[in-house]
Amino acid sequence: MSLGIYIQVPFCQTKCTYCNFHTGVVSRDRHGPYSEAVCREIAKAGESPHASVDTVYVGGGTPSLLDPADLGKILDTLRRSFRAEPLETTLEADPETVSSERAALWVGTGFNRISLGSQSFADRELQAAGRRHRRADILGATEALRAAGIGNLNMDLIAGLPYQTPPSWDKSIEELVSIRPEHVSIYMLEIDEGSRLGREALAGGSRYSAQAIPDDDTIADFYEIARQRLAASGYEHYEISNWALPGYRSRHNGKYWRREPYLGFGAGAHSFDGMMRWANVHDPARYVACIEQGSSPGEQFEGLTAIQMLDEEFFVGLRLLEGIDLAPIERDFAPELPRRMAQLRERIAHLESLGFIEREGTRIRLAPDRLTVSNEVFIQLLA
Ligand code: SF4
Repeated sequence: MSLGIYIQVPFCQTKCTYCNFHTGVVSRDRHGPYSEAVCREIAKAGESPHASVDTVYVGGGTPSLLDPADLGKILDTLRRSFRAEPLETTLEADPETVSSERAALWVGTGFNRISLGSQSFADRELQAAGRRHRRADILGATEALRAAGIGNLNMDLIAGLPYQTPPSWDKSIEELVSIRPEHVSIYMLEIDEGSRLGREALAGGSRYSAQAIPDDDTIADFYEIARQRLAASGYEHYEISNWALPGYRSRHNGKYWRREPYLGFGAGAHSFDGMMRWANVHDPARYVACIEQGSSPGEQFEGLTAIQMLDEEFFVGLRLLEGIDLAPIERDFAPELPRRMAQLRERIAHLESLGFIEREGTRIRLAPDRLTVSNEVFIQLLA
């Protein structure tokens, strides 16, 4: 089975109010040593036996902040150390970091897919969310990327930003569709303790405009509107948060949903070899120090039990709209875990009777009109 490579760049220019990722704002002179450390980690891993690499994804954070020459060195190291000629090489970019010159350099170093963090086309929403870019930056960035030859572009929107209204959401969708990116991601705002906006929404306050977050029903409506509009424009809805024009589904992210192996490099990057998961140290300075001392940055090694593997089959597989085939799951897990399997069968039947799950032959999937409550379905199924 081919291997996916993920490279984490945990640096941003500012911290968006809704962000719950482990990223930080650091001075630019930390970027070079970090890239150097990533190259060393890749070169060392390439010395061990490994499968062929078919996808590379450089995410973050804001990896487009790195000097294009450093990004080029990372890809060169990958090609050399893993003899990799990946089919899909993605770079996440924030609109305000894109210029014609940078776009041409990215294409020249081997990136053939850009994931542009557009989030919204309404300046008021972008400003309230603490984003650096505005609508005009998105338009300028897409033009520069297309002119540089990027033929595989992902753009995303967030449903639920403060000050978002039905008309502003319609406008963001219309603008996005008119650009016609090959791939679209729509995320629903997550309210949790992990972000400043989430904490304010839970505990009160007015600094981050949490009082202007649309209510849950409105956010669910936004998602439904996006589903209908994207379907009418020829996009295939293939994962809860992801749509693609025919032939442009994300190969790399597909590995996560199909539980295929991937290796992560960089601070906080996760890896999975089919049996075990692990993550690198989160703190970028500690990560660089580990690599410079020649020690492994990996920690949190977790061997998966049979029951965890079984639950993951459902948890990640049901994110795909095509759903999962129960026949191989029964074959692989029922002999070892008869009680858990029986419990799952019972719960699936119950969720089916309530209309949350649909069945066709041996396949099951989340009902397309219940995707906005997928988290509740997963809790009921797997608790
Ligand atoms: S750019 Fe992305 S990773 Fe960085 S703070 Fe904003 S949402 Fe978080």
